Parts: sequence; C-alpha cells; structure tokens
Amino acid sequence: MKVIIAGAGAMGSRFGIMLHRGGNDVTLVDGWADHVNAIKEHGLKANFNGEDITVKVPVMLQSQIKSSEKADLIILFTKSMQLDKMLQDIKPLISDQTKILCLLNGIGHEDTIEKYIPMKNIFIGNTMWTAGLVGPGQVKLFGNGSIELQNLGKDQENAAKDLAAALSESGLNAKYSDNIHYSIYRKACVNGTMNCLCSILDVNMAEFGATKSAHDIVVTVVNEFAAVAKHEGVNLDTAEVVEHVESCFDPETIGKHYPSMYQDLINNHRLTEIDYINGAVSRKGKKYNIATPYCDLLTQLIHCKEDILGAK
Ligand code: NAD
Repeated sequence: MKVIIAGAGAMGSRFGIMLHRGGNDVTLVDGWADHVNAIKEHGLKANFNGEDITVKVPVMLQSQIKSSEKADLIILFTKSMQLDKMLQDIKPLISDQTKILCLLNGIGHEDTIEKYIPMKNIFIGNTMWTAGLVGPGQVKLFGNGSIELQNLGKDQENAAKDLAAALSESGLNAKYSDNIHYSIYRKACVNGTMNCLCSILDVNMAEFGATKSAHDIVVTVVNEFAAVAKHEGVNLDTAEVVEHVESCFDPETIGKHYPSMYQDLINNHRLTEIDYINGAVSRKGKKYNIATPYCDLLTQLIHCKEDILGAK
C-alpha cells in the first residue's frame, strides 16, 4: 500500500515507522524544514520501546510536492491548526481513489477535510497510541496503543473495516467503530479539561485533581461538551465520561504527567489546538444557541497564555 503520512511529527513518525516496518511503501510529508532535512540526511531515528533504531524512509517538504504518483492512503497527523494548509499542499498526491484517515485530536476536522476530499474517501478516528518528538529527525515511542475508525461516506463500512485490518497488519491494533463521534467527543472531554486546566494552572493532572474545585470544573466542562454533542446526535454518558476524565488524576498511573498542551505551550512556547477542543465547543454552542461559558473562558485564557509566552 502506498501510504503518505501528512504531518510527520511525533505521531506521524510513529505511524510512518510502524507502517514501513509492516512492509508498506511509506513517504513522510512535513512542513518543518529542519526535521525533513535531518530525516533525509540521517534517516528517522527513534527510541522504539527502549531500542535505538534508524529507519530510512522517503520524506518531502510539503511546500515542494511535485509528485504525480498518487497515494492509496493518506494519514493526517498535523496539529489541528496546520490541517487546512497541509490539505492544500498535498493535493497533487490525491486521486479519486485515495483514502484519507484523520486521527487528530479535536472535534469537527471533517468540516475542513471535506473541502478537499469527497466524503466517500474520508475516514476519521481516534487513537490511544502516543509519541514524543525529541528534536529534528528524532522521536521517542513507548508503550502500546490502539485505533478506532469509521467511514464518513455512505456504504463505506467495508472499506473502513478493510482499512482497520490493513493498519493492524502493521501492529497498529485498529478496529472499526460504529459510533466514532462518541469516542471522539469522549476523548475531547479529557483534552478539554486536562490540557487547558493544567496549562493555565501550571500543574500536573494529579495536582489539579487534588484541588477542591477540580470535580465541579470537570463536571461543568463535560456538561458543555455533552450539550453540544447531543445537538449533533451524540448522547454522551456524562457520569461515565467524568469518571473517565478523573481517572487521569491518579498519581499511581498517569497523574504525574503534564498533558501535551502543557508541554507544547509552557515548555516549548508552541501554539495550541485549543480552538479545535474547547474552542470548537464554544463555536458550535453559539451556532446551536447553547451557552458554553467555561469553554469560552478556557479558550480565551489559553489564547492569553499563547500571547504572553509569544507562542508560535
Ligand atoms: P507534533 O507537534 O509532534 O507534530 C505536528 C507538526 O508540527 C509536524 O508537522 C511537526 O513537524 C511540526 N513540529 C513539531 N515540532 C516543531 C517545531 N519545534 N518547530 C516547527 N514545527 C514543529 O504533533 P503530534 O504530537 O504528532 O500530534 C499530531 C496530532 O495527533 C495532534 O492532533 C495531537 O493532538 C494528536 N495526538 C497526539 C498524541 C501524542 O502522543 N503525541 C497522541 C494522540 C493524538
């Protein structure tokens, strides 16, 4: 299978390495010149569950795509705010047959993708795999994960199942979901609480969880996500989702971890995906006439923090 990884940062590199090792014809496409040049010169270096490996894999700068060779599958792994530009740049790689799989965190990416790709070829999902970018050309990949995915186009269920099977052949542990928007909203509730609150309060998840107000804030934010989701036909089990979110507080498991937004914004002064998490709920709330005051404020506070830190 000819696979393009569109956005080859931490997660794109993980998927690129695993699909390449699984025997697929993988090409990485990315917009960060230092990263692309490092991979061209030295290969993609990874610490893969403790083992140092180097993978020689073709890589292209997204602004320099000339190829008329079309992809069978394009996996999108930009940050949310980079998605539209990536889709514009990879147009030469897309044919009528090219399937697009989007596994970004956040809500509503299909609205961006469908400007470029017919609905029948769009597949969206959720992943529990993780990855870290150490520096240009270098990633850290630990642990196991999984993927859930579903077709957006009518009558494409078998294609989604085939896609999940093809990804699983490379060890990616993918399965078909018949309610992917539920899973996407459920995961967005974790990101829409832990990411912004830990970044604003400058704490890890256990420290936030130990505060007297944590439970009330989580319940209120989850209820805002649920009200918007309900308007879109997704009925979240809010008690279960709150419990799921609060399982992140446990210092014995992942509580001492600082969420990815904290690492991007506070440690590395990078712009965040807030407009596609709490910001998406705020926008949808306005559209559906649903009040979302906590999501509105959290979005604005994260943008303030981006301004204060000069995030790029
Ligand atoms: P990433 O930041 O590692 O990479 C995204 C893009 O940003 C890439 O094009 C990368 O080259 C570029 N980039 C990274 N650092 C840069 C720098 N210093 N200067 C210039 N460009 C830079 O993002 P990711 O962690 O791979 O996340 C991709 C998507 O997957 C996001 O929607 C994220 O929320 C989601 N996700 C991430 C993880 C994870 O563990 N990393 C897990 C699940 C979902």
